[in-house]
Amino acid sequence: SEAPVRLRETGVPAERRLARAFNAASGAFVQVEARASHDRLTGVANRESILGTLVAEVERAVRHSKPLSVAFIDIDRFKPINDSYGHNTGDVVLRQVASTIANHIRMTDHFGRYGGEEFMLILPETMPEDAVTLAEQLRSLVMQQPFSVAGRHSLKVTISIGVAGGRGQELRSDALVEHADSAMYAAKSLGRNRTYLFREVDEEASVMRAPISPERRAAATAIGQW
Ligand code: GH3
Ligand code: MG
Ligand code: MG
Repeated sequence: SEAPVRLRETGVPAERRLARAFNAASGAFVQVEARASHDRLTGVANRESILGTLVAEVERAVRHSKPLSVAFIDIDRFKPINDSYGHNTGDVVLRQVASTIANHIRMTDHFGRYGGEEFMLILPETMPEDAVTLAEQLRSLVMQQPFSVAGRHSLKVTISIGVAGGRGQELRSDALVEHADSAMYAAKSLGRNRTYLFREVDEEASVMRAPISPERRAAATAIGQW
């Protein structure tokens, strides 16, 4: 589906001209489509495209009662890398992290850039516990990899990962995004360079679940650090 449709440029001159025009239009269409769905810097799916894939995969998992997991991956302390070594080095790190992850997932998994230095991984047919195992493999791969800075010294880069998932009817794409995101923040708050699995709080338990705003969460993190 990614290769442009091509007609054989044979026949009478008018047919050849028509085939050439068709082939040019077909090639251009595929290029425009690829540009619209991929992130220019890293070459992986962009936010819009990965979110579209998530909706489609959730629908499929619900229809067939299959498991599905989502992981949010955020580079740790990326701003200081930009500040110390420059934006170009930051870009190199982004590209290298993206390609390390993209090269170590299954053909059926989906990976995209969700925001600045944040990526989303969609794992069809995968229970959250298995997603955590994969996330931990990816985390150690990134951690062990040397990132060369301006051809001189090498830099260590780590990632924090939040995982959420479930099976069939219980899946909803907006809840998966929200849960994986809050699990990722939990991984950050607990010290970074770790994977955290989102768990629904037991409604029967004596401590009820309370929603927390990003501002309150930041305040709680600051208090925790203090
Ligand atoms: P944390 O460990 O909490 O995730 O800290 P952080 O520094 O990684 O997170 P923060 O959100 O403070 O900073 C993210 C930085 O990512 C800020 C922004 O300038 C940088 N950034 C976003 N997009 C790009 C990009 O395309 N290229 C480069 N070089 N930097 C980017
Ligand atoms: Mg970060
Ligand atoms: Mg971030």
